Amino acid sequence: MREIIGKCQACHKDVFCENGFFEGEQLDGKLYCVICAEKALEGYTSEKNE
Ligand SMILES: [Zn+2]
Repeated sequence: MREIIGKCQACHKDVFCENGFFEGEQLDGKLYCVICAEKALEGYTSEKNE
């Protein structure tokens, strides 16, 4: 079963939930695909370090 959860806030691709596995991340209430979530998290850590 594949369900569209919403669109990635960064690349605007559809983010799916497949067989109960959520293929994305929610950061600060925004939805991201796995790839953009990783990038966003990298951005977070570098921002926090400054
Ligand atoms: Zn994305």
